[in-house]
Amino acid sequence: MRLVLLGPPGAGKGTQSMRLKEKYHIPQLSTGDMLRAAVEAATPVGLEAKAVMDKGGLVPDATVVGIVADRIGAPDAKTGFILDGFPRTVGQAEALAKMLRAKNMDLDAVIELKVDEAALLARIAQRVKDTLASGGTVRADDNPEAFKARLDAYHAQTAPVSDFYAKQAVLKTVDGMVPADAVTKAIEQMLEGSIRCVGLG
Ligand code: AMP
Repeated sequence: MRLVLLGPPGAGKGTQSMRLKEKYHIPQLSTGDMLRAAVEAATPVGLEAKAVMDKGGLVPDATVVGIVADRIGAPDAKTGFILDGFPRTVGQAEALAKMLRAKNMDLDAVIELKVDEAALLARIAQRVKDTLASGGTVRADDNPEAFKARLDAYHAQTAPVSDFYAKQAVLKTVDGMVPADAVTKAIEQMLEGSIRCVGLG
């Protein structure tokens, strides 16, 4: 099963893709995680990406597309994958379509988590508070300024990706404001429904 999870920062894509990974035994490919690992390891990609990421902007398409192309070619992604945080621009979505076509592959579903943005800001503030309270470290881009920039980038560059997939009739929308377990259930029901439809069709 090949899935894409879409939604603004803080919508719960990470939580849901971790759960889908467990349930369907396919890897979660988070470009944010891959980029943070590159920053940590101070690779050329990491060095280039760090400043952009800290400010909440988007890393150039060519960089991210290169990382994803390598990753979906890995043996563990043969049976499927969940893309979390990619594609974030229409250019990335087009590059992904090209990559998949070259491998004779298709996406099974693109799931968009719909959220209320005022509530998102409260959610991110709570996430920072909880992390600090439990002695953890917060992400460099989990502060109100960077978060606002991430939301702006989402509106300007990522929202059109939903239209891109809606036109191809693969976009499914799930309410991301209900508790996480209910979101998981809705996604699973939706996926099982579409698998059954494919089977019947
Ligand atoms: P995330 O963990 O998905 O919120 O990503 C954290 C940061 O990594 C983003 O704010 C961007 O700076 C960068 N990033 C992650 N995925 C992408 C992508 N597909 N395209 C461009 N930048 C990305």
